[in-house]
Amino acid sequence: MTDTASRPAVDPETAGAPENSGPVDYTPLNRRRLIAPGPVEVEPRVLAQLAQPQMHHRAPEGVAKLTQTRAQLTELLGAPGYESVIVTGSGTAAFEGALVSLVPGGAKVVSAQAGKFSERWGEMAGRFGYDTRTVSRPWGELLDPAEVAHAARDAHTLLVTHSETSTGALHDLQAIVAAAKADNPDLLVIADCITSYGVAELRPEEWGVDVIVSGSQKGTATPPGLGLLLFSPQARERLIPDTTRGFYLDMQRELKGQMAGSTPQTPAINLIYALSASLERLLSVPREVLWAEKKRQNDALIAAGVAMGARSWASRTSPAVTVLCPPEGIGGKAVAAQLAGMGQRALPGQAPHEDTVFRVSNMGYADRYDALSIAGILEDALGALGAKFERGAGVAAAWNALK
Ligand SMILES: *Cc1c(COP(=O)(O)O)cnc(C)c1O
Repeated sequence: MTDTASRPAVDPETAGAPENSGPVDYTPLNRRRLIAPGPVEVEPRVLAQLAQPQMHHRAPEGVAKLTQTRAQLTELLGAPGYESVIVTGSGTAAFEGALVSLVPGGAKVVSAQAGKFSERWGEMAGRFGYDTRTVSRPWGELLDPAEVAHAARDAHTLLVTHSETSTGALHDLQAIVAAAKADNPDLLVIADCITSYGVAELRPEEWGVDVIVSGSQKGTATPPGLGLLLFSPQARERLIPDTTRGFYLDMQRELKGQMAGSTPQTPAINLIYALSASLERLLSVPREVLWAEKKRQNDALIAAGVAMGARSWASRTSPAVTVLCPPEGIGGKAVAAQLAGMGQRALPGQAPHEDTVFRVSNMGYADRYDALSIAGILEDALGALGAKFERGAGVAAAWNALK
């Protein structure tokens, strides 16, 4: 049915393809990649852990695996004094566990907000009936340590997000906690480190962060389903016995059990095996090497975006996620949709900023060569949407940044 008369004898677009078939679409051959900031790609060796004959958490191997994994979590944090708790649930469950297990009824809670996730913690504290105040900055901006300290000067607890995955900002957790504790030494700091743990520089002992919260499907490159908590010695002393705000998420009960090698209820033991295998890889280099390499990979993706006319939303960027304002005239939703059509799972912004940005990530089981590949993928996606740049500019910028 095609009007062959109107086509050149040899169409460079279709050369090598069956006659008259139009431009070749290679998409069906693409590897489906997760290039979103969680869940992330998981190493096959880690996935294989899940396919073992069903293990039992009360068997000696199960008890040993829990104990080993908890020690690995502390080692990845680089804080020997911290005790970890593994919760069956996502990162939000872990955060809820920290809140209800540490904050007594009526206490003043300050929620420092500058994006979707930090807003969630304020909403959560409000639901539980705490005297909740917020101190906020517009999305994409950085929290101001002095403002946060002022708001938290008479608070019991400060809720703060280190790597704000909705905006790409890496808040200065060290400066925020230093300022807040200078004014209020007894302040309890619960930090959402869901995408900074195992990815960005994090020194809770030196910085004075009492509770670190994360989730298995982010920096620790494991399937979703485990919430991770690490408690400082001071935080452990402040755990409320028999909290009335939770039972399953009573962290005092859970910590006591886990320190003795067992959990009060059935854990997702298969995922714990997988997590342990993934932690083995992350712990095979010093943390500083891991942090520097993740930062380099993310800087490479930002450089690629800039070379194609995009720009980073945040000024102090999280190595966990590349949040880019697309080139003029292109919306974040269109970029994410274009990538999805190519088999590449990225994300647009989060409401109400869905169209302001798009988000890609090289967190998890991904290395510098994956970053390079994402730069090429972005060239195809942004090019298809009409962005003007010289082919190869994004990949070259990424490659230079990976030196
Ligand atoms: C993913 C994420 C969460 C939510 O974690 P879930 O595991 O989905 O509950 C919270 N905070 C940040 C910064 C995140 O990136």
